[in-house]
Parts: sequence; C-alpha cells; structure tokens
Amino acid sequence: MSKPAFSFEFFPAKTAQGGQKLLNTYDELNKLAPSYFSVTYGAGGSTRSRTLDIVQTLCARGDTDIAPHMSCIGDDKVEIAGLLDHYKALGIKRLVALRGDLPSGQVGMGELPFALDLVKFIREHSGEHFHIEVAAYPEMHPQARSFEFDVDNLVNKYQAGANAAITQFFYNADSYLYLRDTLEKRGIDTVAQPLIAGIMPITNSSNLVRFADSCGADIPRYVRKRLADFGDDRSAIREFGFEVVYRLCERLMSEGAPAMHFYSMNKVEPNKRLVEALGLSA
Ligand code: FAD
Repeated sequence: MSKPAFSFEFFPAKTAQGGQKLLNTYDELNKLAPSYFSVTYGAGGSTRSRTLDIVQTLCARGDTDIAPHMSCIGDDKVEIAGLLDHYKALGIKRLVALRGDLPSGQVGMGELPFALDLVKFIREHSGEHFHIEVAAYPEMHPQARSFEFDVDNLVNKYQAGANAAITQFFYNADSYLYLRDTLEKRGIDTVAQPLIAGIMPITNSSNLVRFADSCGADIPRYVRKRLADFGDDRSAIREFGFEVVYRLCERLMSEGAPAMHFYSMNKVEPNKRLVEALGLSA
C-alpha cells in the first residue's frame, strides 16, 4: 500500500491571541511534515484581511508551502487580479480556487460567478504560476441541479486548468470511489489530476451534525446514533470518532487514494493522532 500525501486546512483566527494559538497549532502540525497547509477565505471578502495576515506571517517566516483559498462570488476581476499578484510576490505557488457562498444579505454574483470562471481567470492572469486545487463533492453540492451536472462542473474545472480537486468531507468511502471512477470514465486521469480526499476528524457531535447538514455531507445513521448516545461524554465521542475516521482513511488508502486533506479545525491532537496512526508522516 503506497503512502498517500497529506495536508492540513485551517481557518484564520479572529483575535491576536487566537492568531498566536494558531501559529502554535501550525508549528505542531508542521512537525508531521505535511505537503502544505491551506487557509480558508470568507466569500465576499469577509475574512480577506485575516486570511492575508496569516499567509503573510507564515511567508515572512519562510514558510511558503501555503495554499490560500480564494473565492470569486461577489468580487470583481480587479480585486482578484490584485490578490493573485500579491500572492505571487509573496512566493505562494498553490491556491484553492472556489466559488464560495455569499454572506446573507449580500446580492450580486460578481464578474466571476462560478469557480470555473475563477480557474479560467487565474490561468489567463497568472499563466501556470499557481498549482490550482478546486472543490469536489462526492455526495453532490447541495445546490447542484443533479449529480451529473455537478460532475460536469468538476470535469470542466479540471479541463480549465485545475491541477487537483479536494473533496468535501464524507464518511462513506464508496461515494469518493464512485466519483473517482466516474471522473476516470469521463477522461480525467486522476493520477495526473488527483481527487484528494477531504477528511474531517470527529471530535464534537453537535457542530459536526450542523456543519454536515449545511454543506450536504452525509453522516451515516450508525454514526449519528452513536454520537447521540454519547451525549456530553467528549472522551467517548473522541474515541469513537477516531475509530470511524481511521477506518475510513484505511479503506481509502487500500483503494489507492493519492492524498488526504485534513480539515484540521485548528486542532492539533485529533489530526496528529490520525496521521501518526495511519503512518502517513515521514
Ligand atoms: P462551483 O464549482 O462554482 O459550484 C457551485 C454550484 O454551482 C454547484 O452546485 C455547481 O453544480 C453549480 N454550478 C456550476 N456552474 C454552474 C452554472 N453555469 N449554472 C448553474 N449552476 C452551476 N467556502 C468559502 O467561503 N471559503 C473557503 O475557504 C472554502 N473552502 C472550501 C474548501 C473545500 C475543499 C471545499 C470542498 C469547499 C470549500 N468552501 C469554502 C465551500 C464552497 O465555497 C461552497 O461549497 C460553495 O457553495 C461552492 O463552491 P465551489 O467552488 O464548489 O463552486
């Protein structure tokens, strides 16, 4: 079984104190030698300065294996071009290109309404400078017209120049494998343009259920039921959550998943434990 690559995602902190805590988390996870870290971005510019701050701080320390997320909905091309030039000047070579979701109350899709438009724009503006990753949905994006339409959209993003796609989190390995096989049948070489498995460690029941419901990720019934039974017993949730996610990752590895992207939720322990138990770290 070959070892998949792995990476971590985190979100920018809201306060200076939170920022320092995040740097400590980053340093701890960095000891595991991931391929890169990605940093989320609030669509409509809601966390723009916080995303930039943490990216700049890390670049100033010489850490440029950072992939800022960029969204396009509601933004204009001049703003996006400015951000691309800024990231290039900082030494950033990788981006996660997304549509994003408009904050409530904000109207107008902007000049680049879909992630496909953003991928095309990045290639037009910055050529091949950036390695571009896009979002993929093994269980279908909640607003997609149909599964097939959503796959068409993903194929179009790969064909427009995305180097890889990172999936929404899922707990059903077959949904990932089905999407990967479907992409292969549609002519995408998933060795050259991989489908990276997005992995969400389970550490908390109510947040996970709320988050999964909002982004259309399925939590298998037995997992929901077990989590509900544990109530406030956080240690039982952590142990069960570890077992579920470990088994998922093991299955993905045995099926040849090329890489795993951990939604770290800015936590060290659950991510470190999984990476070490799976033997992913160098
Ligand atoms: P798209 O690929 O543009 O697809 C969005 C929807 O539009 C899909 O339903 C698609 O089928 C449909 N569609 C595409 N083209 C058309 C068309 N021409 N006409 C009609 N419908 C169409 N959000 C953030 O705000 N910040 C982040 O940092 C962030 N990071 C993420 C990281 C990952 C790995 C993932 C999986 C998601 C992330 N998200 C983030 C959430 C993401 O922004 C939302 O899921 C968003 O709703 C869709 O973004 P997308 O890039 O998949 O959009």
